[in-house]
Amino acid sequence: MSSLIIENANLFTGVDEEVIANGAVWVSDGFIKFAGHLKDLPTNGENVDRYDALGKFVMPGMTESHVHLSYNNAHPQQLNSQPLPIAMLDAADNARVLLGSGFTSAISFGSAQGLDIPLRDAINAGRIPGPRLAASDRDLGSTGSNADGTFGGDNSKKIIADGPWAIRKAVRTLAKRRCDIVKIFLDGEALSEFAPPGVLTYTDEEVATAVEEAHIRGMRVVCHSRSAAAVKQAVRHGVDIIGHANYLDDEAVRMLEAKRDEIFVGPGIAWEIALLDRGSELGLPRDAMEQRGYQREIDETISAVKRLRESKVRVLIGGDYGLNITPHGTNSKDLEYFVDLFGMSASEALLCATRDGGAAADTSGMVGTLEEGKYADLLIIDGNPIEDIRILQDHSRIVGVMKDGVMHCALMQKNPYVAPNEQMEG
Ligand SMILES: [Zn+2]
Repeated sequence: MSSLIIENANLFTGVDEEVIANGAVWVSDGFIKFAGHLKDLPTNGENVDRYDALGKFVMPGMTESHVHLSYNNAHPQQLNSQPLPIAMLDAADNARVLLGSGFTSAISFGSAQGLDIPLRDAINAGRIPGPRLAASDRDLGSTGSNADGTFGGDNSKKIIADGPWAIRKAVRTLAKRRCDIVKIFLDGEALSEFAPPGVLTYTDEEVATAVEEAHIRGMRVVCHSRSAAAVKQAVRHGVDIIGHANYLDDEAVRMLEAKRDEIFVGPGIAWEIALLDRGSELGLPRDAMEQRGYQREIDETISAVKRLRESKVRVLIGGDYGLNITPHGTNSKDLEYFVDLFGMSASEALLCATRDGGAAADTSGMVGTLEEGKYADLLIIDGNPIEDIRILQDHSRIVGVMKDGVMHCALMQKNPYVAPNEQMEG
């Protein structure tokens, strides 16, 4: 039985916004046995290791709520074009980098070639480091939907199904491949020539069928819904996690509020921001992207998130990292956006990343907060993210990532078995 006490920390348990000075966390056999004031630490057995976290900030591991581990940091139009064996190695690398960046859980929003399923299995078997992964396969969409080729691409990223029975068969196929998550496209993308936001690419009957079949099979459904119409369609038919939700009207906000205890929304704002800031590197200059409506989309998202916060709808961080303009490992940028753009306090953004993301990732309630009985997934940070949320983006400040009670070391080194000075010489 392994047991560790982390003491003298600035402790953020993720239960609320409080930071406990002189906090302690007792980890035993992969579970939290205690988290709170050091003075309240129960008397413990003799064989307990101790880690002095003086000056350090201890917090729950974060959840990336909209991950694409199969994306290879490439141009959006050249994603996943590599052969399968290379793509799998990249995905394994991306999982390690995500864990090393402080994300102990992740929800897949679509994986090329279904890579997230063997990836999840390898992580769970302890063969490779990575976050707890709710895995999905290819995107599900209709003919002419955003899944059907906004960014070109072959069938490695999509399953095109039209009509209830074809959709039922597609979802059954995803169940057979052992997905946890079904990703479905309900509307599109401003860059698309044929599926812009606001044009519903599935009928109500089709969405209802997809969700019904997924839920029967024990899978959850996540969607791409940018417009109010697509958000309302998702809520009406029981989609579990809504991606984007950029444009909301009163009715959409009311519907989300009524289901706020079961539903989650992830704005995935990094994509729009990166496209405007760095699109010119991709041959997509800012003024052209503004004309396409991306600045308006950001502005609308800011007011949408404000309304969701007022309605106490849970908003999650993450989304669409893994492009050349949003590389894997920079996922904590989202917390900065939550503070700077959405006006959250640092502790509120941390709750989105930990407590709320954990609840979305793991429906059994074992993830996202440091409380007795939960999985020991935590981060030890050099510095205080409450004072500056950006320090979470600095990998050198993440001095420890614990998942399942196991402390992972040197995750950001390409080859953790080579001493750092040898790597630098090479
Ligand atoms: Zn995405």
